[in-house]
Amino acid sequence: MGRAFVYVILGGGVSAGYAALEFTRRGVSDGELCIISDEPVAPYERPALSKGFLLPEDPTRLPSFHTCVGANDEKLTPNWYKEHGIELILGTRVKSVDLKRMTLVSSTGETISYNFLIIATGARAMKLEEFGVEGSDAENVCYLRDLSDANKLATVIQSSSNGNAVVIGGGYIGMECAASLVINKINVSMVLPGAHCMARLFTPKIAAMYEDYYSAKGVKFIKGTVMTSFEFDENQKVTAVNLKDGSQLPADMVVVGIGIRPNISLFEGQLAMEKGGIKVNSKMQSSDSTVYAIGDVATFPVKLYGEMRRLEHVDSARKSARHAVSAIMEPENTGEFDYLPCFYSRFFAFSWQFYGDHVGEVVHFGEYEEGKVFGAYWVKEGHLVGTFLEGGTKEEYETISKVTQLKPVVMDMEELEREGLGFAERVVSQPVVEEVKEVVVQSSEVVKQVARVVTMEKPVHVWHAATGVVVAVSVAAFAFWYGRRRRRW
Ligand SMILES: Cc1cc2nc3c(=O)[nH]c(=O)nc-3n(C[C@H](O)[C@H](O)[C@H](O)COP(=O)(O)OP(=O)(O)OC[C@H]3O[C@@H](n4cnc5c(N)ncnc54)[C@H](O)[C@@H]3O)c2cc1C
Repeated sequence: MGRAFVYVILGGGVSAGYAALEFTRRGVSDGELCIISDEPVAPYERPALSKGFLLPEDPTRLPSFHTCVGANDEKLTPNWYKEHGIELILGTRVKSVDLKRMTLVSSTGETISYNFLIIATGARAMKLEEFGVEGSDAENVCYLRDLSDANKLATVIQSSSNGNAVVIGGGYIGMECAASLVINKINVSMVLPGAHCMARLFTPKIAAMYEDYYSAKGVKFIKGTVMTSFEFDENQKVTAVNLKDGSQLPADMVVVGIGIRPNISLFEGQLAMEKGGIKVNSKMQSSDSTVYAIGDVATFPVKLYGEMRRLEHVDSARKSARHAVSAIMEPENTGEFDYLPCFYSRFFAFSWQFYGDHVGEVVHFGEYEEGKVFGAYWVKEGHLVGTFLEGGTKEEYETISKVTQLKPVVMDMEELEREGLGFAERVVSQPVVEEVKEVVVQSSEVVKQVARVVTMEKPVHVWHAATGVVVAVSVAAFAFWYGRRRRRW
């Protein structure tokens, strides 16, 4: 028994939903496209699970957050798929894939064949067992990756009111869940392995701002240590968390947010892999020309940095999905994926966005206080490469996105700090000239790297550059003259 489709999307998460919408916009016909997902519901906006879903009053529930709600897109309810002739095969796990035969086999034994396959299998939460700790199955230990995790978490939250929660991990899942737990009147302790929260992105200054706020709300941070084991009662419910530093934290519930692993195992040995994901080119096409990969599972060339990257963010899932479908349906009209990494988070009344790369020197700007606008720039080799902004307006976020894409020259870090957001506003208001050069990214992929050169009306940078050149030439001339004199001595 089997079915055949022209296009099959394997996985029914964020990127699958955005890919489906793009297929309909590009004229997919009835019965040509199917989505296979092991989740029992149509694709939804996963970020809602750690935000509105966990609120004590009027929590967000499906169907309100099916993809592609927001940003003036349509909301793709199960009915939407029916109306557009898209087959949704839900609650069905794909257990094997044969890329040579262009077939998938589901857990029910059905064979599904395709002309084009889009891999959108996303990632799964890393379990404590991977670090030698037992107890993930306990009824009050929660992870958060999918709707069933979120349902369990919401139930455990309800039964733990005024009790103690231990959050393991200080990434965005830990931070967003901790905020939701506080709002639900639960006492929270956060166990962080590093010196501060969001260690991969935040600077100590940014982290301190948010941690101070959390502490004022009663959250206790235990830093520089990890959990080693749980204490259980006779019903195998966790009652306490033991830490490596020898201390013990009482627990009515535990939330674990220690990272994710991309779901690539079905394709290992069949497709080229890189940086833990499926390696694709700038059309999101894998080493098999009929197979594309999108979202958390794809490692793609980021033109702006001339590097292969695998990202775990919703914006990249949405945009890579659209690009892959465009490359499949209209290859001649589809250029290279030119993606600016973007990540956002929301907790309590805070809301921030980050664009680009967090490497190089950091300059902080603004007032680091609750309710104020503040941010940071990352500058590498004289160019602005990353921007963080808390509390911005829609226009301000657009501005920092544009300025980061432009990679403008930064001559004076102090001036940048003084100007703050004004620097971004000034740069984006200037005319831009594009310079294209071909670069070889790691793994021999050649991509066109676009440098957008900003012509500043106020020629302050040109003046600085000219001064720099004059000084450098003078120093070199002196060194040459001095060297010759020494040799004569
Ligand atoms: C709680 C939470 C909050 C988040 N908040 C933010 C945020 O604020 N900002 C941000 O930028 N990002 C956020 N993210 C990250 C963002 O949601 C992901 O980057 C995005 O969901 C990736 O989309 P995807 O389609 O690649 O994978 P997913 O959305 O994970 O979808 C993968 C789908 O494939 C299915 N699947 C996997 N293997 C199989 C198989 N063998 N057979 C059938 N089906 C399969 C899965 O069940 C799932 O439905 C958050 C993630 C979570 C979990």
